Amino acid sequence: ATPVSILIATGSSARRGILFKEGSSLERLRQTDVILMDKTGTLTEGWPQLKEIHAYRGGGAYVLSRAAALAVRSAHPLAQAIVRAARDRGTLLPEVQQFHEWAGKGMEGHVEGSRVRVGNRKWLLEQGIHPDRHEDLPGHTRLYIALNGECVGSFVLNDKLRQDARKVVQVLKEKADVWMVTGDEEPAAAAVAAAAGIHQVRAEMLPEDKLAFIQELQGRGRKVAMIGDGINDAAALAAADVGLAMGGGTDAAKQAGDVVLIGNRLSSIIGAYTWSRLTMRNVH
Ligand code: ADP
Ligand code: MG
Repeated sequence: ATPVSILIATGSSARRGILFKEGSSLERLRQTDVILMDKTGTLTEGWPQLKEIHAYRGGGAYVLSRAAALAVRSAHPLAQAIVRAARDRGTLLPEVQQFHEWAGKGMEGHVEGSRVRVGNRKWLLEQGIHPDRHEDLPGHTRLYIALNGECVGSFVLNDKLRQDARKVVQVLKEKADVWMVTGDEEPAAAAVAAAAGIHQVRAEMLPEDKLAFIQELQGRGRKVAMIGDGINDAAALAAADVGLAMGGGTDAAKQAGDVVLIGNRLSSIIGAYTWSRLTMRNVH
């Protein structure tokens, strides 16, 4: 028989900004005992601001124009922040050839004969490029720019915690074990997690690391909900017992998720949990 209450629940939940692609995810959501939360675009607004430019060579306008030339090709929130900053300054963007983006790492391309890389410290180190160590501003993210294998500058970006993040986390902790899983580096991850009230953090996670962590938890019999927004979250969203995608996120995430928070409100996840419990009470 058709579980009528599930149809009713999914129908009215869509009006509240939650889209369940199929009724069965409600049942699975009710059973989850771990929630993994992505940082950028999920716990944070996903609308970072470029706060500082450090140029070791060529000047601020020069390094910004090179970085923005690559960034305009990317959908990553950090890349988009660099583009906005360049537009605000009226920067002309040089042409880019052979653009390539590395999930969780950065992006590269050829600009006026030089190989330009923009990405995080760990990735540049992997490429044999040694960025200067900086004093980290708590909760801020730093990206580096390299020209022909030499680090020539860095950018400090800040993405605001969603205003309701702490409250949402507090409620979720009553329902399940809450973790933050992020591709960002340890100091930035730890500061945002602390502000959100999350005490379990995995940082510097590549897309495949997020996936492996879910499989490890499932191997121990845990039922996992994952909430994320990025291309880097798609594999994890698909593998989780229930994947929840932020409505403001990438198409890849929304396609991979079982549930889409179409209003892009983090608090909708609480609505989804409440819904899953109410519905099951009606079914049985
Ligand atoms: P999160 O899991 O927090 O959403 P991501 O996996 O999307 O983070 O990114 C992790 C890190 O990888 C970023 O903090 C950044 O350092 C780097 N990165 C990924 N894609 C890009 C890009 N297009 N431009 C610059 N940096 C990037
Ligand atoms: Mg993200």
